[in-house]
Amino acid sequence: MSFTVTATDGAARAGVLRTAHGDVPTPAFMPVGTKATVKTLDPDEVRAIGAHIVLGNTYHLYFRPGHELIAELGGLHRFMGWDGPILTDSGGYQVFSLRDTIAAVDDEGVTFRSVYDGAAARFTPELAAEIQAALGSDIAMCFDQVLPPELPRREHEEAVRRTTLWAARQKRAARAPGQLLFGIAQGGVDPELRRQSVEEISALDFDGNAIGGLSIGESREQMFELTAFACDLLPPEKPRYFMGIGDPQGILGAIERGVDMFDCVLPTRTARTGSALTSEGRINLRNARFARDQRPLEDDCPCPACSRFTRAYIRHLVNQAEVLGLRLLTLHNLRFLLDLTSRARTAIEGGRLSALKEDVSWVP
Ligand SMILES: [Zn+2]
Repeated sequence: MSFTVTATDGAARAGVLRTAHGDVPTPAFMPVGTKATVKTLDPDEVRAIGAHIVLGNTYHLYFRPGHELIAELGGLHRFMGWDGPILTDSGGYQVFSLRDTIAAVDDEGVTFRSVYDGAAARFTPELAAEIQAALGSDIAMCFDQVLPPELPRREHEEAVRRTTLWAARQKRAARAPGQLLFGIAQGGVDPELRRQSVEEISALDFDGNAIGGLSIGESREQMFELTAFACDLLPPEKPRYFMGIGDPQGILGAIERGVDMFDCVLPTRTARTGSALTSEGRINLRNARFARDQRPLEDDCPCPACSRFTRAYIRHLVNQAEVLGLRLLTLHNLRFLLDLTSRARTAIEGGRLSALKEDVSWVP
Protein backbone atom coordinates (compact mmCIF):
# COMPACT_ATOMS: atom_id res chain seq x y z
CA MET A 1 0.00 0.00 0.00
CA SER A 2 1.25 3.45 -0.86
CA PHE A 3 -0.86 5.23 1.76
CA THR A 4 -1.15 4.88 5.53
CA VAL A 5 -3.53 6.75 7.78
CA THR A 6 -1.61 7.51 11.00
CA ALA A 7 -4.20 9.48 12.98
CA THR A 8 -7.84 10.52 12.75
CA ASP A 9 -9.91 13.24 14.37
CA GLY A 10 -13.57 12.90 13.46
CA ALA A 11 -13.61 12.45 9.69
CA ALA A 12 -10.22 14.20 9.33
CA ARG A 13 -7.11 12.10 8.74
CA ALA A 14 -3.35 12.50 9.00
CA GLY A 15 -1.27 10.08 6.97
CA VAL A 16 1.70 9.39 4.76
CA LEU A 17 1.65 8.86 1.01
CA ARG A 18 4.68 6.99 -0.30
CA THR A 19 5.84 7.82 -3.81
CA ALA A 20 8.82 6.92 -5.99
CA HIS A 21 10.45 10.26 -5.07
CA GLY A 22 9.73 10.31 -1.36
CA ASP A 23 7.03 10.46 1.28
CA VAL A 24 4.31 13.08 1.45
CA PRO A 25 2.83 13.78 4.89
CA THR A 26 -0.90 14.43 4.62
CA PRO A 27 -3.00 16.54 4.70
CA ALA A 28 -0.86 18.03 1.94
CA PHE A 29 -1.18 21.29 0.07
CA MET A 30 0.43 20.96 -3.36
CA PRO A 31 1.81 24.15 -4.95
CA VAL A 32 0.95 24.36 -8.62
CA GLY A 33 3.81 24.32 -11.09
CA THR A 34 1.73 24.20 -14.27
CA LYS A 35 4.52 24.81 -16.76
CA ALA A 36 7.22 22.90 -14.86
CA THR A 37 7.83 25.78 -12.46
CA VAL A 38 6.11 27.14 -9.39
CA LYS A 39 6.01 30.61 -10.87
CA THR A 40 9.05 32.73 -9.94
CA LEU A 41 10.49 30.23 -7.42
CA ASP A 42 13.58 28.05 -7.42
CA PRO A 43 12.86 24.42 -6.39
CA ASP A 44 15.08 24.87 -3.29
CA GLU A 45 12.84 27.75 -2.23
CA VAL A 46 9.73 25.63 -2.79
CA ARG A 47 11.20 22.94 -0.55
CA ALA A 48 12.38 25.44 2.08
CA ILE A 49 8.89 26.87 2.61
CA GLY A 50 7.62 23.38 3.42
CA ALA A 51 6.27 21.88 0.20
CA HIS A 52 6.65 18.11 -0.16
CA ILE A 53 5.02 17.67 -3.55
CA VAL A 54 4.31 19.92 -6.53
CA LEU A 55 1.93 19.76 -9.47
CA GLY A 56 2.75 19.75 -13.16
CA ASN A 57 0.28 19.95 -16.00
CA THR A 58 -0.14 17.47 -18.83
CA TYR A 59 -1.99 19.87 -21.13
CA HIS A 60 0.58 22.65 -20.97
CA LEU A 61 3.69 20.45 -21.00
CA TYR A 62 2.33 18.47 -23.97
CA PHE A 63 2.13 21.65 -26.05
CA ARG A 64 5.20 23.44 -24.63
CA PRO A 65 7.88 22.15 -24.69
CA GLY A 66 6.41 18.69 -25.48
CA HIS A 67 6.42 15.52 -23.38
CA GLU A 68 8.79 13.72 -25.75
CA LEU A 69 11.40 16.44 -25.38
CA ILE A 70 11.08 16.31 -21.58
CA ALA A 71 11.43 12.50 -21.68
CA GLU A 72 14.52 12.83 -23.90
CA LEU A 73 16.01 15.23 -21.33
CA GLY A 74 15.54 12.73 -18.51
CA GLY A 75 11.97 13.31 -17.38
CA LEU A 76 10.14 16.09 -15.57
CA HIS A 77 12.03 15.83 -12.26
CA ARG A 78 15.39 16.34 -13.90
CA PHE A 79 14.04 18.89 -16.37
CA MET A 80 12.69 21.21 -13.65
CA GLY A 81 15.36 20.45 -11.04
CA TRP A 82 12.89 19.12 -8.45
CA ASP A 83 13.73 15.68 -7.05
CA GLY A 84 10.68 15.39 -4.78
CA PRO A 85 7.26 13.95 -5.62
CA ILE A 86 5.33 15.38 -8.58
CA LEU A 87 1.66 14.92 -9.39
CA THR A 88 0.57 15.61 -12.95
CA ASP A 89 -2.95 16.65 -13.75
CA SER A 90 -4.35 14.81 -16.77
CA GLY A 91 -5.32 17.80 -18.87
CA GLY A 92 -9.04 17.06 -18.51
CA TYR A 93 -9.70 20.18 -16.49
CA GLN A 94 -7.83 22.43 -18.95
CA VAL A 95 -9.47 20.95 -22.04
CA PHE A 96 -12.99 21.18 -20.61
CA SER A 97 -12.66 24.52 -18.84
CA LEU A 98 -11.55 26.18 -22.08
CA ARG A 99 -15.01 25.37 -23.42
CA ASP A 100 -14.94 27.51 -26.51
CA THR A 101 -11.88 25.63 -27.79
CA ILE A 102 -13.70 22.26 -27.84
CA ALA A 103 -14.67 20.95 -31.28
CA ALA A 104 -16.10 17.52 -30.42
CA VAL A 105 -16.42 15.13 -27.51
CA ASP A 106 -17.07 11.45 -28.10
CA ASP A 107 -16.40 8.22 -26.25
CA GLU A 108 -12.95 7.93 -27.79
CA GLY A 109 -11.75 11.35 -26.62
CA VAL A 110 -12.02 15.07 -27.21
CA THR A 111 -10.96 17.24 -30.14
CA PHE A 112 -10.10 20.85 -29.39
CA ARG A 113 -7.90 23.75 -30.43
CA SER A 114 -4.66 24.35 -28.55
CA VAL A 115 -4.72 27.45 -26.40
CA TYR A 116 -1.18 28.20 -27.63
CA ASP A 117 -1.67 28.49 -31.38
CA GLY A 118 -5.21 27.30 -32.15
CA ALA A 119 -3.94 24.11 -33.84
CA ALA A 120 -6.30 21.13 -33.75
CA ALA A 121 -5.47 18.57 -31.08
CA ARG A 122 -7.05 15.46 -29.68
CA PHE A 123 -6.78 14.03 -26.16
CA THR A 124 -7.73 10.50 -25.23
CA PRO A 125 -7.20 8.61 -21.99
CA GLU A 126 -4.44 6.66 -23.75
CA LEU A 127 -2.63 9.87 -24.71
CA ALA A 128 -3.05 11.30 -21.19
CA ALA A 129 -1.39 8.11 -19.89
CA GLU A 130 1.38 8.27 -22.48
CA ILE A 131 2.19 11.93 -21.75
CA GLN A 132 2.28 11.36 -17.99
CA ALA A 133 4.40 8.22 -18.40
CA ALA A 134 6.87 10.23 -20.50
CA LEU A 135 6.95 13.03 -17.92
CA GLY A 136 7.60 10.40 -15.25
CA SER A 137 5.45 11.99 -12.56
CA ASP A 138 4.97 10.10 -9.29
CA ILE A 139 1.20 10.40 -9.43
CA ALA A 140 -0.69 10.45 -12.72
CA MET A 141 -4.33 11.48 -12.93
CA CYS A 142 -7.07 9.97 -15.07
CA PHE A 143 -8.40 11.95 -18.01
CA ASP A 144 -11.93 13.01 -17.07
CA GLN A 145 -14.79 15.11 -18.39
CA VAL A 146 -15.36 18.15 -16.19
CA LEU A 147 -18.59 20.13 -16.60
CA PRO A 148 -19.81 23.38 -15.05
CA PRO A 149 -22.36 22.52 -12.34
CA GLU A 150 -25.22 24.47 -13.97
CA LEU A 151 -25.43 22.26 -17.09
CA PRO A 152 -28.47 19.95 -17.43
CA ARG A 153 -28.48 16.59 -15.66
CA ARG A 154 -28.37 14.57 -18.87
CA GLU A 155 -25.04 16.19 -19.78
CA HIS A 156 -23.66 15.33 -16.35
CA GLU A 157 -24.92 11.75 -16.80
CA GLU A 158 -22.97 11.52 -20.05
CA ALA A 159 -19.86 12.99 -18.41
CA VAL A 160 -20.04 10.50 -15.54
CA ARG A 161 -20.45 7.57 -17.93
CA ARG A 162 -17.58 8.78 -20.10
CA THR A 163 -15.32 9.55 -17.13
CA THR A 164 -15.71 5.94 -15.91
CA LEU A 165 -15.16 4.54 -19.40
CA TRP A 166 -12.01 6.63 -19.84
CA ALA A 167 -10.74 5.77 -16.35
CA ALA A 168 -11.06 2.03 -17.07
CA ARG A 169 -9.11 2.47 -20.33
CA GLN A 170 -6.39 4.59 -18.75
CA LYS A 171 -5.94 1.99 -16.02
CA ARG A 172 -4.89 -0.54 -18.67
CA ALA A 173 -2.31 1.83 -20.22
CA ALA A 174 1.44 1.70 -19.51
CA ARG A 175 2.87 3.89 -16.73
CA ALA A 176 6.27 5.17 -15.63
CA PRO A 177 8.08 2.87 -13.13
CA GLY A 178 6.49 3.26 -9.69
CA GLN A 179 3.94 5.77 -10.97
CA LEU A 180 0.68 5.84 -9.01
CA LEU A 181 -2.61 6.45 -10.78
CA PHE A 182 -5.56 8.30 -9.24
CA GLY A 183 -9.14 8.17 -10.53
CA ILE A 184 -11.38 11.24 -10.55
CA ALA A 185 -15.07 11.26 -9.66
CA GLN A 186 -17.40 13.76 -11.31
CA GLY A 187 -21.19 14.14 -11.09
CA GLY A 188 -21.67 17.87 -10.68
CA VAL A 189 -23.85 18.82 -7.72
CA ASP A 190 -26.39 16.02 -8.16
CA PRO A 191 -25.95 13.69 -5.16
CA GLU A 192 -27.11 10.60 -7.06
CA LEU A 193 -24.72 11.22 -9.95
CA ARG A 194 -21.94 11.98 -7.46
CA ARG A 195 -22.64 8.72 -5.72
CA GLN A 196 -22.64 6.81 -9.00
CA SER A 197 -19.36 8.38 -10.11
CA VAL A 198 -17.64 7.87 -6.75
CA GLU A 199 -18.75 4.23 -6.65
CA GLU A 200 -17.73 3.49 -10.24
CA ILE A 201 -14.32 5.15 -9.85
CA SER A 202 -13.71 3.49 -6.45
CA ALA A 203 -14.57 0.10 -7.96
CA LEU A 204 -11.74 0.51 -10.48
CA ASP A 205 -9.35 0.32 -7.51
CA PHE A 206 -6.93 3.15 -8.25
CA ASP A 207 -4.05 4.09 -5.91
CA GLY A 208 -6.04 7.13 -4.84
CA ASN A 209 -9.24 8.94 -5.65
CA ALA A 210 -9.95 12.53 -6.50
CA ILE A 211 -13.07 14.63 -6.13
CA GLY A 212 -13.29 16.66 -9.32
CA GLY A 213 -15.70 19.22 -10.70
CA LEU A 214 -16.32 21.04 -7.42
CA SER A 215 -15.31 24.52 -6.32
CA ILE A 216 -16.17 25.75 -9.83
CA GLY A 217 -19.32 27.76 -9.24
CA GLU A 218 -21.55 25.91 -6.77
CA SER A 219 -22.18 27.39 -3.32
CA ARG A 220 -19.74 26.82 -0.48
CA GLU A 221 -22.37 24.98 1.51
CA GLN A 222 -23.12 22.67 -1.40
CA MET A 223 -19.41 22.08 -1.98
CA PHE A 224 -18.78 21.06 1.63
CA GLU A 225 -21.89 18.89 1.70
CA LEU A 226 -20.84 17.03 -1.46
CA THR A 227 -17.28 16.70 -0.17
CA ALA A 228 -18.48 15.05 3.03
CA PHE A 229 -20.83 12.86 0.99
CA ALA A 230 -18.03 11.76 -1.37
CA CYS A 231 -15.51 11.14 1.42
CA ASP A 232 -18.04 8.95 3.17
CA LEU A 233 -18.35 6.77 0.06
CA LEU A 234 -14.65 6.67 -0.88
CA PRO A 235 -12.50 3.77 0.40
CA PRO A 236 -10.84 4.90 3.66
CA GLU A 237 -7.53 3.16 2.91
CA LYS A 238 -6.86 5.28 -0.19
CA PRO A 239 -5.80 8.94 -0.33
CA ARG A 240 -8.49 11.48 -1.25
CA TYR A 241 -7.63 14.49 -3.33
CA PHE A 242 -9.88 17.54 -3.67
CA MET A 243 -8.92 19.22 -6.93
CA GLY A 244 -8.69 22.99 -6.90
CA ILE A 245 -9.22 24.37 -3.41
CA GLY A 246 -6.76 26.74 -1.77
CA ASP A 247 -8.36 29.37 0.40
CA PRO A 248 -7.72 28.91 4.14
CA GLN A 249 -11.31 28.14 5.17
CA GLY A 250 -11.82 25.90 2.16
CA ILE A 251 -8.70 23.92 3.03
CA LEU A 252 -9.70 23.47 6.66
CA GLY A 253 -13.27 22.59 5.68
CA ALA A 254 -12.07 19.95 3.23
CA ILE A 255 -9.61 18.47 5.75
CA GLU A 256 -12.35 18.33 8.37
CA ARG A 257 -14.49 16.26 5.99
CA GLY A 258 -11.78 13.70 5.22
CA VAL A 259 -9.73 15.13 2.34
CA ASP A 260 -5.99 14.35 2.33
CA MET A 261 -4.60 16.38 -0.59
CA PHE A 262 -5.47 19.58 -2.41
CA ASP A 263 -3.99 22.09 -4.80
CA CYS A 264 -4.84 25.56 -5.99
CA VAL A 265 -3.38 28.40 -8.01
CA LEU A 266 -4.80 30.85 -5.44
CA PRO A 267 -1.58 31.61 -3.49
CA THR A 268 0.50 32.15 -6.62
CA ARG A 269 -2.26 33.97 -8.54
CA THR A 270 -3.02 36.18 -5.54
CA ALA A 271 0.67 37.11 -5.46
CA ARG A 272 0.48 38.20 -9.08
CA THR A 273 -2.33 40.62 -8.20
CA GLY A 274 -0.10 42.21 -5.54
CA SER A 275 -1.98 40.61 -2.64
CA ALA A 276 -0.90 38.69 0.43
CA LEU A 277 -2.78 36.09 2.50
CA THR A 278 -2.63 37.16 6.13
CA SER A 279 -4.50 36.60 9.36
CA GLU A 280 -6.31 39.90 8.63
CA GLY A 281 -7.52 38.39 5.39
CA ARG A 282 -6.26 39.11 1.92
CA ILE A 283 -4.44 42.45 1.78
CA ASN A 284 -3.68 44.29 -1.46
CA LEU A 285 -0.29 45.95 -1.20
CA ARG A 286 -1.28 48.50 -3.84
CA ASN A 287 -3.48 50.14 -1.23
CA ALA A 288 -2.05 53.52 -0.13
CA ARG A 289 -2.44 52.61 3.54
CA PHE A 290 0.66 50.38 3.28
CA ALA A 291 2.97 53.16 2.01
CA ARG A 292 4.49 53.73 5.47
CA ASP A 293 3.68 50.33 6.98
CA GLN A 294 6.85 49.05 8.63
CA ARG A 295 5.38 45.69 9.68
CA PRO A 296 6.04 42.43 7.86
CA LEU A 297 3.18 40.95 5.80
CA GLU A 298 2.41 38.71 8.79
CA ASP A 299 3.87 38.90 12.30
CA ASP A 300 5.91 35.81 13.25
CA CYS A 301 5.85 34.40 9.72
CA PRO A 302 9.26 32.79 9.10
CA CYS A 303 9.12 33.17 5.30
CA PRO A 304 11.85 35.07 3.42
CA ALA A 305 9.49 38.00 2.79
CA CYS A 306 8.44 38.48 6.41
CA SER A 307 11.82 37.85 7.97
CA ARG A 308 13.48 40.79 6.17
CA PHE A 309 11.08 43.14 4.42
CA THR A 310 8.31 45.61 5.32
CA ARG A 311 4.90 45.96 3.74
CA ALA A 312 5.99 49.43 2.60
CA TYR A 313 8.93 47.98 0.68
CA ILE A 314 6.93 45.14 -0.88
CA ARG A 315 4.24 47.67 -1.86
CA HIS A 316 6.91 49.70 -3.62
CA LEU A 317 8.15 46.59 -5.48
CA VAL A 318 4.59 45.67 -6.49
CA ASN A 319 3.85 49.18 -7.74
CA GLN A 320 7.01 49.18 -9.82
CA ALA A 321 6.29 45.65 -11.13
CA GLU A 322 9.63 44.51 -9.75
CA VAL A 323 10.18 40.74 -10.01
CA LEU A 324 11.29 40.57 -6.37
CA GLY A 325 7.86 41.78 -5.23
CA LEU A 326 6.18 38.92 -7.06
CA ARG A 327 8.65 36.41 -5.67
CA LEU A 328 8.28 37.60 -2.08
CA LEU A 329 4.47 37.52 -2.23
CA THR A 330 4.53 34.03 -3.79
CA LEU A 331 6.90 32.76 -1.09
CA HIS A 332 4.76 34.24 1.66
CA ASN A 333 1.38 33.09 0.30
CA LEU A 334 2.57 29.51 -0.21
CA ARG A 335 4.18 29.45 3.20
CA PHE A 336 0.97 30.72 4.77
CA LEU A 337 -1.07 27.82 3.32
CA LEU A 338 1.62 25.19 3.84
CA ASP A 339 1.89 26.25 7.50
CA LEU A 340 -1.86 26.14 7.92
CA THR A 341 -1.93 22.61 6.47
CA SER A 342 0.93 21.47 8.66
CA ARG A 343 -0.82 22.92 11.74
CA ALA A 344 -3.93 20.98 10.73
CA ARG A 345 -1.88 17.79 10.58
CA THR A 346 -0.48 18.37 14.08
CA ALA A 347 -3.97 19.22 15.34
CA ILE A 348 -5.41 15.97 13.92
CA GLU A 349 -2.62 14.01 15.59
CA GLY A 350 -3.57 15.62 18.91
CA GLY A 351 -7.35 15.38 18.36
CA ARG A 352 -7.60 19.17 18.34
CA LEU A 353 -8.75 20.05 14.83
CA SER A 354 -11.89 21.83 16.01
CA ALA A 355 -9.78 23.94 18.40
CA LEU A 356 -7.50 24.88 15.50
CA LYS A 357 -10.52 25.86 13.43
CA GLU A 358 -11.63 28.22 16.18
CA ASP A 359 -8.07 29.45 16.54
CA VAL A 360 -7.93 30.49 12.91
CA SER A 361 -11.57 31.57 12.57
CA TRP A 362 -10.22 35.03 11.82
CA VAL A 363 -8.86 33.78 8.53
CA PRO A 364 -11.46 34.71 5.90
ZN1 LIG B 1 5.60 35.54 5.35
